[in-house]
Amino acid sequence: MKRIVIIGAGIAGLSTAYYLSKSTQQGGQQLEIALLEKGGRLGGSILTEQADGFLMEGGPDCFISEKPWALKLCEELGLAQEVIGTNQQVRRTFILRGRRLHEIPEGFMLLAPTSLWPFVKSSLFSLPGKARMGLDLILPRKKSDVEESLGAFVRRRLGREALERIAEPLVAGIHAGDPETMSLQSTFPRFIDLEQGHRSLIWGMYQRKKQFAHLRPRYTMFITLRHGMEGLVTALKKTLSPGIISLEQGVVGMEKITGKPSQGPRYRLRLRGTKKAMEADAVVLATPSFATADLLQGIAGEIARQLTTIPYCSTATINLAYERSQIGHPLDGYGFVVPRLEKRSIMAATFSSVKFTGRAPQGKVLLRCFVGGAKNEELVSWGDDELLAAVRGDIEEILEIKDEPLLQRIYRWHKAMPQYTLGHDERLSRIEQGLAKHPGLFLTGSAYRGIGISDCVHEAELTVQKILQFISK
Ligand SMILES: Cc1cc2nc3c(=O)[nH]c(=O)nc-3n(C[C@H](O)[C@H](O)[C@H](O)COP(=O)(O)OP(=O)(O)OC[C@H]3O[C@@H](n4cnc5c(N)ncnc54)[C@H](O)[C@@H]3O)c2cc1C
Repeated sequence: MKRIVIIGAGIAGLSTAYYLSKSTQQGGQQLEIALLEKGGRLGGSILTEQADGFLMEGGPDCFISEKPWALKLCEELGLAQEVIGTNQQVRRTFILRGRRLHEIPEGFMLLAPTSLWPFVKSSLFSLPGKARMGLDLILPRKKSDVEESLGAFVRRRLGREALERIAEPLVAGIHAGDPETMSLQSTFPRFIDLEQGHRSLIWGMYQRKKQFAHLRPRYTMFITLRHGMEGLVTALKKTLSPGIISLEQGVVGMEKITGKPSQGPRYRLRLRGTKKAMEADAVVLATPSFATADLLQGIAGEIARQLTTIPYCSTATINLAYERSQIGHPLDGYGFVVPRLEKRSIMAATFSSVKFTGRAPQGKVLLRCFVGGAKNEELVSWGDDELLAAVRGDIEEILEIKDEPLLQRIYRWHKAMPQYTLGHDERLSRIEQGLAKHPGLFLTGSAYRGIGISDCVHEAELTVQKILQFISK
């Protein structure tokens, strides 16, 4: 029986194990599957904690319904009843300008307005800023095919104010990245399609909105699980036969064993704390790309070199709970993002117990602040007291909070957010070319073709298709 070893039990590794097991259970080739995780828990960046009636997410707090793969997986796992959408009473997000939270105008779709009146009335932009954004309607489309950063693209089409006041903070809230180095092609390719297809971004988005206006989606854009994102991890674990998962089993080295040319290579994995090695016919590296690079150093130097050029940044989430009566702000939205030019320590905050039901007991509020990212990473390594003081200073001033928090939790994520910088697609092609020389080696996870939970699930499913093809040869 062929043995497939998956290294790393974040959502990417777990989903890979799930789809492989599913294939064997459905009558596909019988395989021996092993999932090795260096830490003491499953889920990687997914972590839910419950305390004093609060449900706190340390890592991701939701996934996108428009990208259907994670939702499909939840349904397959029997979690359909657990899936919940965002609160429809307060469908808005704010942006900090000065000391005030300004609503993102209705109809604004990430970068550009699609409804005229709310945009014209908005207090978020200056008059010249609005006029510059309007120029997008008449500016020609880009001719050259030189790769552009997200920052350069937004400045060219919509102007500096649009970049600084809306695009940068919204994108930082998703990728924790720097728009000046982020590849537009690898992060938001649909904006390139919109410009090429419609010339104007505003016009293109308006057309798209009109085209889909008749659809009544079953779910809101952001969805989560009633009892927290870790429910997905637990459900995946339950589908795997006992013995597949090994915790505290860090892989520290890999060798390639070349057999007869007709047989193809096998791989030998060295495990932390033991002299015993494990052999595999195929290995899936579902580890962060820098960890993957370390493991491949000795057997695939060129791939390792490419992997080390994918930068990562660190972030932290700080969950804070308060009595509702102690907060002056109406909390009539999902939260807010903070432009870098506001020079605050937090880059975004979610009103967790307003956004999703079941996050806090009656009369209490759970807030979640997000710090760090490409331009403010050093905050993540501050001591707890210092970090809490900075975060509380910001949130308590912005939301007019008068009392001490009932509960506070810090979750630090060192080098957990891969950055798709300029040249990312080119890097991926070189990695693909390199992998062709090492049959049986597969890479998956957030470092490559999408950082969201749903992207990771999708990538894992595609990786399993490639593995099954390889095995059947
Ligand atoms: C704070 C934060 C908030 C986020 N919010 C959202 C959100 O709201 N929605 C969304 O869709 N996405 C969100 N994301 C992104 C998403 O959560 C991640 O991209 C995704 O979970 C990454 O999954 P992964 O399996 O690729 O990697 P990871 O979760 O990093 O898992 C990799 C695993 O590999 C293990 N490992 C590493 N080296 C070895 C080794 N040598 N041997 C064995 N095991 C090893 C690690 O211990 C880890 O468990 C967020 C991410 C963070 C950090």
